[in-house]
Amino acid sequence: MDGELVPWDEAKVHVLVHGLHYGSGVFEGIRAYPTERGPAVFRLRDHMKRLYQSAHLLMMDPPFSIDELCEATKETIRANDIDSCYIRPLIYRGYNTLGVNPLPCPVDAMILVWEWDAYLGPEALEKGVAVKISSWTRSAPNTFPAMAKSVANYANSGLIKMEAVADGYSEGIALDTTGQLSEGSGQNLFLVRDHTLYTPPVAASILPGITRDTIMVLAKDLGLTVVEQALPREMTYVADEMFFVGTAVEVTPITSVDRIQIGNGKCGPVTRAIQEAYFDYVNGKTPDRHGWLTYVNA
Ligand code: PMP
Repeated sequence: MDGELVPWDEAKVHVLVHGLHYGSGVFEGIRAYPTERGPAVFRLRDHMKRLYQSAHLLMMDPPFSIDELCEATKETIRANDIDSCYIRPLIYRGYNTLGVNPLPCPVDAMILVWEWDAYLGPEALEKGVAVKISSWTRSAPNTFPAMAKSVANYANSGLIKMEAVADGYSEGIALDTTGQLSEGSGQNLFLVRDHTLYTPPVAASILPGITRDTIMVLAKDLGLTVVEQALPREMTYVADEMFFVGTAVEVTPITSVDRIQIGNGKCGPVTRAIQEAYFDYVNGKTPDRHGWLTYVNA
């Protein structure tokens, strides 16, 4: 926290911190995977660059450089002596005044690491998940900057998730204000039709995911065509295959939308090939040809 290693039970803030009251914070979600050379953080620098971009959009000047944040992440993992983890950096407006204006409040920073298995449960990666189209819409243009991974945006994500769970689904997919597909509460979306991959564009109120970018690269490595374009809701029901991607969900097959079966209702062959390519890469089983792994003990 703010440059110091702090024991878990002592990692506390005052109840007046601005971020707690007004959602003035930006964050990242990153994973480190076990490899033969010890834990490796996946796309660490790219995540910290996006954190900087998010902070810029919310007019925050982070108290540490990108290099310092990367080093601090490695140090925190080493201090916890763990092989794999989820990493949560958070930059937030701290303790000063209770006014809405964030600018008088200091910009504080913390990085926590946390052991976290498959985000949607142990069977999700293998068997896939059932999802619904949410009745909640993703934020409109000129309301919240969707390109920022900002704490405030997750009030919308929380509503999408709670509605989905209450209705018996694993996740919800939100539409944008024009009614086109956007993304899940905390993950991006791909469809497969005739061996071509489709994903909504940045203008569809999505967070431009680092896993989304990874999958576009790995899919091209596999010889697949990837198309970013506005997609109507009904594309989901007629897709051959569908899957979520994100740091937390990794590559999770979607087997039904609104109880309508996708393809044969199982993880499809394209999804499985991409999932395998992803896990082989993050676990260091294939050569790091894109320079995406940061070895913690190096
Ligand atoms: N969209 C949202 C709303 C998210 O919270 C996340 C998770 N950070 C993603 C997409 C996927 O982003 P990434 O692949 O960078 O984890």
